Amino acid sequence: MRRLMAVIAFTAMAGSAFAADLARSVDALSREELASVIRLLSDDLLEGRAPGTRGGELAELVTEGLLAWTGLAPGWRGSYRQPFTMRGFATSNLSIEGRGQRLVFLDEVVGNYLREQEEFDLQGEAVFAGFGIRAPQWDWDDYKNADLSGRLLIVRVNDPGSVHPDLFEGSTLTYFGRWRYKIEEAARVGARGILLIHNDSSAGYGWQVVRNSWAGESLHLPAHLGGDLEFAGWVSEAALGRLLAGSGHDLAALYAASARRDFRPIPLGFPLRISGRHAFRTLTANNVVAEIPGTRPERVVLVAHIDHLGRDERRDGDQIFNGAIDNGSAVAALLLSARILKQHQEMLTYGVTILACHAEEEGLLGSTAYVAAAERGQIVAAINFESTPVWGPAGSVMGVGAEYSTLGELLQQVARRTGVQVSQFSMTEQGFFFRSDQFSFARAGIPALWISAGEDFASGRNHLREFFTGPYHTPADEFDPAWELESLRQTVRYAVLLVEAINRAAERPRWTRPLPFPVDH
Ligand SMILES: [Zn+2]
Repeated sequence: MRRLMAVIAFTAMAGSAFAADLARSVDALSREELASVIRLLSDDLLEGRAPGTRGGELAELVTEGLLAWTGLAPGWRGSYRQPFTMRGFATSNLSIEGRGQRLVFLDEVVGNYLREQEEFDLQGEAVFAGFGIRAPQWDWDDYKNADLSGRLLIVRVNDPGSVHPDLFEGSTLTYFGRWRYKIEEAARVGARGILLIHNDSSAGYGWQVVRNSWAGESLHLPAHLGGDLEFAGWVSEAALGRLLAGSGHDLAALYAASARRDFRPIPLGFPLRISGRHAFRTLTANNVVAEIPGTRPERVVLVAHIDHLGRDERRDGDQIFNGAIDNGSAVAALLLSARILKQHQEMLTYGVTILACHAEEEGLLGSTAYVAAAERGQIVAAINFESTPVWGPAGSVMGVGAEYSTLGELLQQVARRTGVQVSQFSMTEQGFFFRSDQFSFARAGIPALWISAGEDFASGRNHLREFFTGPYHTPADEFDPAWELESLRQTVRYAVLLVEAINRAAERPRWTRPLPFPVDH
């Protein structure tokens, strides 16, 4: 027993020595080292780094070069690159007709046909499917085993918590409220198509945002296109209201029915016809993957996406979405964390995989392709960097999603060690846990979080909120030489110390509470 205690004491001491070494290496990073990767990735020459473009390929090349130069080994079957294929669809004309009316493309409806065929024309009975949610953890099932094959579903966005604070997680958006989930679920129930109903308050953004993001090309993984679902799109609430007028159904009554547990899909009594033209193509991008071996086969994955929105030649003025913060600063945090962990490699028991993934902006496609092909059982946790803060220091650390697993307790240890508090991201109603690459791991059952310095900046301003409500996803997300970069340094510190804490913990990370999303096994 005494010997065991001595071993434990020694392990704890060695652990804290490791942590102190890591912290010293983070403190030694110069401002130039913190800035260099952001400046490189957000340069106009990389043209916004969209997957399948020259700029996107340059981002892969630069990232691979930096990882190799740092001395990291290839992390994907002997290569630094994991190629994956995507299908792109761009609708050029769309018509949705029902009850003698025709809805206007772009102003009232947008969407994608999901088959490789230039012209499309499909019909199906219109069925209102409520929130379109099956969530056994909240005893909620809008579908109730109804036969929906061949039907065109009309579905509300958000989740029942948006109408009843005691349902789901109240006003905090769960993954069941996200449009992506509803499309996946429509495919699972065998529907032919789905139209999501847009109104500003339940979607959280205006029609213009839907229109902009669906008017261009959208990318999909082939594995997600195999089922009966042929069409996915949006209809404005006003246009749907007009379509329903005189049909015997009205939106208020349909919405009221859908707020109840006993809701069942409601056939609307008329068919919809969806027709139009689109262009399609197949393209390939690469995740860039490197590894630092530990003494055990299991590993922690550190992840950040290298892609951004590319360039838009229809814009006047600046056309390049440089993505300096989204996600240049996060890739900087990823590469600096990798370098520091490599310097202290002999202390690692779990290995560390560095995943610089592609096509996040298109719906987490690169990280999804990685998790689908990786040996999941060996991944003990994933730590994601997203839009890492670049301003002065903050008084706290945030782990978006940490509350669902023991990673939350480990993050508390990291906070104590570094003399800061753990804080919650104030923008949780935006569903951020589901909107970056940590989620590809979480939904595969792997405890995961998005790590970041908090919003309580020493300047007294909430720079992170200002970013997400300002330059985020615009050409104004550009490198600024005046950035202090101390919150970037803090984020690197928290990440490497969290890796250390995961290594030192007696058990591998595990979930601790019901999850607000379905886990795919
Ligand atoms: Zn991002």
